Parts: sequence; C-alpha cells; structure tokens
Amino acid sequence: MSMSSSLHLTICSFIGRSWLSGSCLLCVAASRGALCEACLADLPEQVPAEEVLGANGEAPRLPGPDAAGVSAYTLWRYAEPADRVVLGFKYGGHAGVARLWAARMAPRLPAVDAVIPMPMHRLRLAERGENPAEVMAKSLTAHLPGRPPLIRGCKTRMTARQQGLDREGRLANVADAYRVDAGLSGMHVLLVDDVLTTGASLLALAAAARAAGAAKVTAVAMARATA
Ligand SMILES: [Zn+2]
Repeated sequence: MSMSSSLHLTICSFIGRSWLSGSCLLCVAASRGALCEACLADLPEQVPAEEVLGANGEAPRLPGPDAAGVSAYTLWRYAEPADRVVLGFKYGGHAGVARLWAARMAPRLPAVDAVIPMPMHRLRLAERGENPAEVMAKSLTAHLPGRPPLIRGCKTRMTARQQGLDREGRLANVADAYRVDAGLSGMHVLLVDDVLTTGASLLALAAAARAAGAAKVTAVAMARATA
C-alpha cells in the first residue's frame, strides 16, 4: 500500500467516524446539529405557540396580580416524529435537541428576569444524572436578552407518574410538591419543562414561584401533548 492510499484511508475513516457522531437522530443523514435541516423543517409546529394555563378559575388558583393564568409557549406538537425527537433528547443523550429548540423558541418569548427549570426530586436526579429541563433552561438563557440567571427550585416530595391520571388527579398529585427558596420579589420568571400536557406541574411550580415573590410567571416547553 502506498503512503498516499494509506493516508486516504485514514482520512476516509476519520470522516466516517465524524459522520456517525454527527448524524441526524431521525434519518441518520450527516448533520452538524442533532437534526438535519430537512427533518427539523418537517417537525409538526404547535399552533398557536402560546396558550394560557390555569385560567377560568381552574385549580390551583394562583395568588398574585395576574392570577388569571400562566402564559405557556411550546414549539412542537408532541406527535410523530417530534415525540421521537423529545424522547431522543430525554433518554437518548441527544442534548443538541435542546440547542435547536432554544434557538427557535427564544425569539418568541417575552423578556424575563430569571429562568427556573422544572425541578426533579433529588433521588430521581441522582438516578438520572441530569435534569433535562435544566439542560433546556441553560440552552435557552444563552438566547434570551440580558442572559437572565438560572434559579433552581426543588421538588419536596416524590410524586406518582402523571401518566394515566386525569386532570384532577394530576393537579392533586403535584400540589405543594415544589418550593423555590430564592427571593423572586417582583420578578417575571420563566418556568421550563420538557413536555406540556395538562400543565398541572407547571401550575404547581408557578404557585411556588409566586409564593417566593414572583410578580409574573410565564412557562415554556419543548412540545405540547394532548392529555
Ligand atoms: Zn434528518
């Protein structure tokens, strides 16, 4: 084998490896991000991107001036193939999904003073190693005006899985399950979660943020699922 052909093989195997590590999680085409441009463009968008949670007197009632509800923003509809993208992010180690989501989501959000990821109970966190909502929040703050600080809340008790519970069951399951120790006096805070279903967890965390002094609460998630 000549020097040049062996060099050629080395370069080819290097390119092959980098393509494998830099491939789209849906179609496996070469991609610099977690998804190729074509698959990213094909993801079902959530329309409208903004909705109001907890309005019309739905429990839990939130104390504070805008007790009418929490504006929640989502980018994708939790349907094929966006569901596989979210699962790839949460369980497949595709952290790059959060970066793609954050770059597209941030321009649609209002200015905020702080960002709070949906807390995970410390035992679940120890089991998983990282909180997906915190990975999302970190990606998001880099795109938000003024780079608002990330503030951690905590989940004060283990809760049953929300899947399989009806709306009332979900609200009861997470009631008073969150606490925010940082002072949020007068702040507009942005809560971050991966998938929005009934919004029960976000409303419970919103109540904790209000109890810590937040004047206004907005929420954002990657995808919107129907309950
Ligand atoms: Zn693709």
